[in-house]
Amino acid sequence: MTELAVKLKELTEASGVPGQEQEVRELMHTYLQTLTENICSDQLGSIIGRKTGLASGPKIMMMAHMDEVGFMVSNLSEGGYISFQPLGGWWSQVMLAQRVIIKTRKGDIIGVIGSKPPHLLSDEERDKVVKIKDMFIDVGATSRAHAKEMGIRLGDPIVPICPFTVMTNEKMYMGKALDNRAGCLVAVEVLKELQGQDHPNVVFSGATVQEEVGFRGAQTSTATVQPDVFIALDVSISWDSPGLADGNTEKSKSGSGPILFLYDGHLIPNTRLRDLIIDTAEEKGIPLQCEVFSDSGATDAGRAHLTGQGVPSIAICMPARYIHSHASIMNHDDLENTIQLLVAITKKLDQKTVDWIKDGRVRP
Ligand code: ZN
Repeated sequence: MTELAVKLKELTEASGVPGQEQEVRELMHTYLQTLTENICSDQLGSIIGRKTGLASGPKIMMMAHMDEVGFMVSNLSEGGYISFQPLGGWWSQVMLAQRVIIKTRKGDIIGVIGSKPPHLLSDEERDKVVKIKDMFIDVGATSRAHAKEMGIRLGDPIVPICPFTVMTNEKMYMGKALDNRAGCLVAVEVLKELQGQDHPNVVFSGATVQEEVGFRGAQTSTATVQPDVFIALDVSISWDSPGLADGNTEKSKSGSGPILFLYDGHLIPNTRLRDLIIDTAEEKGIPLQCEVFSDSGATDAGRAHLTGQGVPSIAICMPARYIHSHASIMNHDDLENTIQLLVAITKKLDQKTVDWIKDGRVRP
């Protein structure tokens, strides 16, 4: 496995549903420790490493979200079956018969989201999607008391199971939570690449909490740092699997480079920052895809840019297939290219450039 893949395996296999991200935070702390002079956090649990290139320079903040879509225990039935509250966006069709871990005080409990055998389905049921509220997890408990004895309590987090896999095409990685541990990896690797290099600013790089339930850590982490520029590092939809792009040639694909969002439901990025990134990619020969994302979905930048008087913000994403399910797939090259692009941008963000980006009126 490549060095990037080893870290991505660790990151994706860690558990971190919104609000209960401690495993991922600890891992991020370990990575950031050797690469930054200081690590701080907001009071919700976001983690932010600081690396100073020029102490008097502007504050450049780049953050991935560390939470993943998952569930929370919401009820234990008399028979010992577990109902759950989804955390983040799920489509019920991807959930039945999937394995999950319930993280309890007494340790991990493995279960499966139970489904009806096909023999028992009426024609009508067969064509219908099962509602999430009607689903249950079977952990092998014989009663409510037995499930409690195992350590299961209301509020316990539930995460999908999918061991990280390097596919036969070794460029392709499959795992759970690539959204957004891939971004967390980029946040770390940019700092690693900047070691021993000049950059005319102070970089704050790390990971937010609770993005999947509404960009909550983005708000508190930017209030903590008060950055001059904010870049959200995230994954986005790769439109190259069957039935998605529907002839739209401007949709992003795996292996074709990082994606710059020109529009999403929560952000219209700063145009000077946008153009700087597009020009930098061109100059360095880094492939870059631009996308107008009119479907539902947004990034931490959607919340971050509203901090204080406003922060010039943008999202740089990596294409991944089948996000918000147990098994997503992404391409190694997109990781590499995203890291290289961010390093190149960081080196350009000096005070003069950032002043120009921030000022809506004056030409340089
Ligand atoms: Zn995400």
